[in-house]
Amino acid sequence: MSRFFSPKYRELTPYTPGEQPKEMQYIKLNTNESPFPPSERAIEEAARAAKRLQLYPDPECRELNASLAKVLGVLPDEILLTNGSDEILNFAFMAYCDENTPAAFADITYGFYPVFARLNCVPYTTVPLKEDFSIAVEDYFGLGSTIFIANPNAPTGLALTRSDIERILQANPDHVVVVDEAYVDFGAESCVPLIHKYDNLLVTQTFSKSRSMAGARLGFGVGCRELIADLNTVKYSTNPYNINSMTMAAGLGMLADEEQTKSRIKTIVENRAFTKAALEEMGFTVTDSRTNFLFAKHPNVDGEALYLGLKERGILVRHFSTPSIKDYNRITVGTREQMQAFLDGVRKILEEQT
Ligand code: PMP
Repeated sequence: MSRFFSPKYRELTPYTPGEQPKEMQYIKLNTNESPFPPSERAIEEAARAAKRLQLYPDPECRELNASLAKVLGVLPDEILLTNGSDEILNFAFMAYCDENTPAAFADITYGFYPVFARLNCVPYTTVPLKEDFSIAVEDYFGLGSTIFIANPNAPTGLALTRSDIERILQANPDHVVVVDEAYVDFGAESCVPLIHKYDNLLVTQTFSKSRSMAGARLGFGVGCRELIADLNTVKYSTNPYNINSMTMAAGLGMLADEEQTKSRIKTIVENRAFTKAALEEMGFTVTDSRTNFLFAKHPNVDGEALYLGLKERGILVRHFSTPSIKDYNRITVGTREQMQAFLDGVRKILEEQT
């Protein structure tokens, strides 16, 4: 740290992203990426856009916005596209939290929320999950805070129903409730249809998971016009050109291939069921994941030992050292072959234990 670093950031512990090894020597099941490349159309559109990189991108993302609005069944001015959904989440902390309006989120959830809170000098409280990692909806009633809920939650994979989220919205009419739907396409109910009913609802989603575009950085928020106007004020005060031309073009290409996206989601959901059943047969406890990852622990193998044993065998999964979840590993669901290799690795590690 230099002596010039602002005191307000000296205690800041940044978010730690999952490992991104340079060589592809690993079967990568650690950062919930899609195992499938973007669609051909998306790749072609991005290549075409590369030829016009001397120009700034359209700051309003008009074409992509209109296309996404059609897919989601909302109006273009009810959407704001961002550089990954991390950016819209940060914008929400900037726009809806301050010293008088703290943030609140689960004690086990996406690790970036506390980082965004500290970055923006926003006080926050954490709400404990129940023993089984589920969310007690009533704990979020009348909190007097801006609420952030990952639904499905990460890394637990568990989802609330839309009607549960609705109860939270109704119990906090004077506070924004941000529903982070990064993984919603893999089997949870989206709250996007509720944006016309609740002016305090902001839904965030991403092209990083079900739409195979983690490397392009494309996310978005959906909410009533007034919320989107606030977030645009923050965007235009931060980085008006937050979506680069190639990403915008790739996003449009992906949206033209929604059928392919749906069929890939189906494959991931099938592979998730296959892997969960195999893990349970080996004695693992596996949560009821509605995402593209599994969250699992075994009574005889330490969570970190399993992570390290798999890494030695060329398979990367994600282990968190947080005490309440240190027995678990989070395993991204990939292709059937990847999951087979993962299961073979796990089987060998278990055999070595006995
Ligand atoms: N929310 C959750 C719950 C996540 O796990 C992630 C991915 N790490 C994100 C948001 C952000 O994803 P992205 O910025 O790639 O859209």
